[in-house]
Amino acid sequence: MSAHERFDLSGRTALITGGSRGIGRGIAIGLAQHGADVAIVYRSAEREANEVVEAITSLGRRAWAERYDLAETDGLADLAARTWDATGGGHVLINNAGLGYLEHFNRITPETWNRTMAVNVDAVFRLSQAMAERMIAGGIQGRIINLSSVNGLVAEAGLAHYNASKGAVEMLSQSLAIELGPHGITVNTICPGIIETEIGGEFDIDVEAFCQYFKAHVPLGQRFGEVEDCVGAAVLLASRAGAYITGQRIVIDGGVMCEQVPRIQFMPRYRNTLTAGD
Ligand code: NAP
Repeated sequence: MSAHERFDLSGRTALITGGSRGIGRGIAIGLAQHGADVAIVYRSAEREANEVVEAITSLGRRAWAERYDLAETDGLADLAARTWDATGGGHVLINNAGLGYLEHFNRITPETWNRTMAVNVDAVFRLSQAMAERMIAGGIQGRIINLSSVNGLVAEAGLAHYNASKGAVEMLSQSLAIELGPHGITVNTICPGIIETEIGGEFDIDVEAFCQYFKAHVPLGQRFGEVEDCVGAAVLLASRAGAYITGQRIVIDGGVMCEQVPRIQFMPRYRNTLTAGD
């Protein structure tokens, strides 16, 4: 099999939650560009969801969209069954939909805690369970890819519920990787840093000051990530090229997580070495 064929997703069907906007939208279209048929789940953005369906069908692939609030966790097994039947099976599950609230730890209400856990964790668990059962029954060596976050690896103040939810996704994914490995099903996470989407758009912060501060700490280009920066990782993990990768995470953060709080700038002898060339 050629290297090119290893990334070919023809004949494969993917279910992507949160496929109407942001990273999920980019991955949905990216998988279709590699030959996959794609079903998306969204919560409210119907026009955007329809546009994704149109973009995928214009590539000659089949596409479906279903409106469903993933916080309604009791209905998730039925959602998986409906999607499986409508699409004629499923090879790839991408648990992408997620949400977060920026608020101090002692201001977190049961409502924001529960909603974060329901969408970011419970939905991931229940859909993975329902889809994995079908993959196993159908002898499908499927793929489960969970959108976690760098916040699942290192905490950020003001996001205790979000951090906890993504940490849970990390451990859940490793657990499933072990249990589903014998069936040839891989389970991995993608951990973005800050990617330019609408998530976090409602955070009550000084956006301009934050952007300047944050970008100064991104080794790779001093910029936020773009949706396109996440698509290749999803294609790799969904494809035959990723057949022997499981229980892993791919961090897409421009290198932010590589760095501890640095001290080199406090060494006058070395100050500006890289830029001044001396
Ligand atoms: P986004 O732009 O806000 O898009 C979120 C998507 O999820 C939308 O399609 C939305 O549907 C859907 N969604 C949200 N809540 C839902 C619910 N209850 N039921 C069904 N669908 C729901 O988010 P994003 O930035 O692309 O983030 C995607 C994933 O990456 C999330 O898991 C997020 O935690 C993770 N992540 C993102 C970043 C980042 O900087 N962007 C960083 C780290 C991790 P509607 O369009 O209908 O609302």
